[in-house]
Amino acid sequence: MITALTGLSIWDGQAASNADCIVFENSKIKSICSLEDVPRQAKTISCGGATALPGLMDAHVHMELDPNHKTAPKKTDPKQTGPMRIRAGQMVKAGITTARDLGGGAWLEIDLRNQINSGDILGPRLLCAGQPITSIKGHCHFWGGEAGDLEEAIKVLHRQIDHGADLIKIMATGGRMTTGSSPKETQFDLVTMANLVMEAERNNLSVAAHCHGTAGIELAAKAGVHTIEHCSWVGRDGWGSDFQLDIAQIVAAQGAWVSPTINRGWQRMLDNKNQTLVNRLRGIYQSMDEMGIPFIASTDAGIPGVFHHHLPEALNVFSKIAGLSEERTLKTATSSAASALGLGGITGQLKPGLDADILLVDGDPLENLNALTRPIGVWSRGIAARLP
Ligand SMILES: [Zn+2]
Repeated sequence: MITALTGLSIWDGQAASNADCIVFENSKIKSICSLEDVPRQAKTISCGGATALPGLMDAHVHMELDPNHKTAPKKTDPKQTGPMRIRAGQMVKAGITTARDLGGGAWLEIDLRNQINSGDILGPRLLCAGQPITSIKGHCHFWGGEAGDLEEAIKVLHRQIDHGADLIKIMATGGRMTTGSSPKETQFDLVTMANLVMEAERNNLSVAAHCHGTAGIELAAKAGVHTIEHCSWVGRDGWGSDFQLDIAQIVAAQGAWVSPTINRGWQRMLDNKNQTLVNRLRGIYQSMDEMGIPFIASTDAGIPGVFHHHLPEALNVFSKIAGLSEERTLKTATSSAASALGLGGITGQLKPGLDADILLVDGDPLENLNALTRPIGVWSRGIAARLP
């Protein structure tokens, strides 16, 4: 079936386009064109001046976690299967057509991914890491990925491959969610980290590393991980208190992407009378940006209070905290995210040959990112999740 969306303002993932129509056939975009070039047999949907952009991507979510829970889980709750399907549906309806799941305990998200791929249920394209590799009693050990040494860590890695993981997640430092683990401290040595990255690459998988403390950021960058999650520069005085230029230079030189997991709740920092923390964080993002470290949008959805479908709200907050323009912020959730996640030939832009992952919003997000919170149409791989 050929569908034509007409009467659009189009931002294609890189730049505004002069065309005003998108034609797609089944799951693939056929052309970005003007009205006279729309094929006659196409089913036409008139969009009344809405802005079209590529479906959004959240590079860090946990499908199995219920954000209504106030505390960290002790283990995977198999009863989450139903709610996970609901979350997946809410995400696409909000315009999120791709998400990277960075940890669960029982591969429920991999089942969900497969159900979405086979068309059984509506949801975003998922890339899943399975159980994160962590130290004994380390961050999120309750998910079952504990390893005491390199040999055990390699076993955990292969267990994820056997379950169909798309990438590998390593907990390079402790985290707040796990009692007894410290965000500042590293959990592995460089030899272990580097060998894990090599083993993942040998199996054509990328590696995402959870890093709060500066030592963990250094370790992950030197080991050659592909994305640094959080990248919080945690020091003695908390978040963002230990930014080190020479370590940021290693991150830049290694070509690692930074996925800062800024959710919409960070708005409270922007609203705070005391702007010390915001200014400190913005300074860090600006320095990393000047060094050429690329960013990808992410929220860590699933942790307490961070809902899976709230990336559109989070992007405005990310833009303000990091001091990025609207267009650059949009790229971190579309074309740049696709490059970082190895999906550049599949999605992230409105371009012939790519998947028809299309979001229509009311208003111009290049003027004001809050337009993203008013979705009026969404197609995920050509399937309508919301119709204008
Ligand atoms: Zn996470």
